[in-house]
Amino acid sequence: MRTTVGIIGAGPAGLLLARLLHNAGIDAVVLESRDRSYVERRQRAGILEQGTADVLRAAGAGERMDREGLRHDGIELRFDRRRHRVDFPALTGGRSVTVYAQTEVCKDLIALQLRDGGPLLFEAEALAVEDAGTDAPRIRFRHEGREDVLECAYVVGCDGFWGVARKAIPAGLAQVFERTYPFGWLGILADVPPSHDELVYARHDRGFALLSMRPPVTRHHPSKEVASLPIESFVSRLYLQVPDGTDAGTWSDEEIWDELERRFETDDDWRLERGPITQKSVTPMRSYVHEPMRHGRLFLAGDAAHIVPPTGAKGLNLAVGDVVTFARALTHQQETGSPELLDAYSATCLRRVWQAERFSYDMTALLHRAPAATAFEDRLQLARLERIASSRAAETDLAEAYTGFPFGGAGGDPLR
Ligand SMILES: Cc1cc2nc3c(=O)[nH]c(=O)nc-3n(C[C@H](O)[C@H](O)[C@H](O)COP(=O)(O)OP(=O)(O)OC[C@H]3O[C@@H](n4cnc5c(N)ncnc54)[C@H](O)[C@@H]3O)c2cc1C
Repeated sequence: MRTTVGIIGAGPAGLLLARLLHNAGIDAVVLESRDRSYVERRQRAGILEQGTADVLRAAGAGERMDREGLRHDGIELRFDRRRHRVDFPALTGGRSVTVYAQTEVCKDLIALQLRDGGPLLFEAEALAVEDAGTDAPRIRFRHEGREDVLECAYVVGCDGFWGVARKAIPAGLAQVFERTYPFGWLGILADVPPSHDELVYARHDRGFALLSMRPPVTRHHPSKEVASLPIESFVSRLYLQVPDGTDAGTWSDEEIWDELERRFETDDDWRLERGPITQKSVTPMRSYVHEPMRHGRLFLAGDAAHIVPPTGAKGLNLAVGDVVTFARALTHQQETGSPELLDAYSATCLRRVWQAERFSYDMTALLHRAPAATAFEDRLQLARLERIASSRAAETDLAEAYTGFPFGGAGGDPLR
């Protein structure tokens, strides 16, 4: 099998890249080790920066997002039993974010790819990238019980943190920057309307908590008599800081709600609504950057090259930034013959990546309680939050980073 761009992984990075290349008339093949239903159900990120939403729209993948996604103009910071709202449009000249789950982004992109894109092979596991340093890189993969080879002009490793693409970059040429955290997030999905209409980031002496949500799903009533009446079902997504290595099964539903209630406590009459928990899992926290993000004709994009703790809601958005940069660079090369943008790929992406690493680290340090935190550090955290709540400059810094830095497209087109 032969293609121009061999893409490993059908997460948000690989799927969006396939769409962007299809729109630019460049052929590509996507290899994904899991089956379609697994990829469409994997619960992960849920916040799209303004630039990410603009890119999905420009790529022709924003129709359902615009219909069902929720535009959010702010977040609430909660500390010391107080509430402070950060107003994004007022601080950033009109920018906002969209609440639309990663599962839905993937479903939309898969449907488009299968309808009008090139091959997308599920249960096709890449085993290795070979000859990455030459003009003819190859992906060795296993599909339907047979080993095969995909001959490519370029390979893009969009295969996440545990993928194989990164291993094809010789260790002697690479540098890794990493930090692990002594805590993770216990995340739940619950069938209950969110107790607040925007995300709530709570700093508490017992640890961090986050209140988030999924857009409501509209279903039709099961009874025929009222089948024409749509039912809106609401889903809350909530997280608790827990010690690293926690097993989600050791927390009962009641313990989770009790702990959430304590960490979100306020001096006013705000109440946390409880409901049936439908999913529970623990996410470890890590910061990680692999430099460079390119070796010869192999390019890394998304979690294959970098990981951020989820506190800044940047993981998915960074993946989008990388593939927009790659698609722009390859289109430029095909149109002008100049490899200039492809040569600059790693440096261009890393500028954005390190800003997201910085912001995600700062938000994590601002809101989580380290196991060995001292009373002095607790007071510093509160002073930092107080500063954000009382200084427009400090608040603007947070709002700009949270809504995301522009993708820098020419003439207002986020893809050029
Ligand atoms: C449990 C969890 C929760 C998260 N929560 C949040 C959050 O709340 N907010 C946030 O901003 N970010 C969150 N993230 C991060 C965010 O989801 C990622 O940054 C995003 O998925 C990156 O997209 P990607 O396409 O680069 O990688 P991935 O989504 O990891 O996709 C990689 C794809 O490659 C496939 N693959 C791997 N190896 C191979 C192989 N050898 N051959 C073929 N295919 C392969 C995988 O099956 C997968 O489909 C979370 C991540 C995790 C793991």
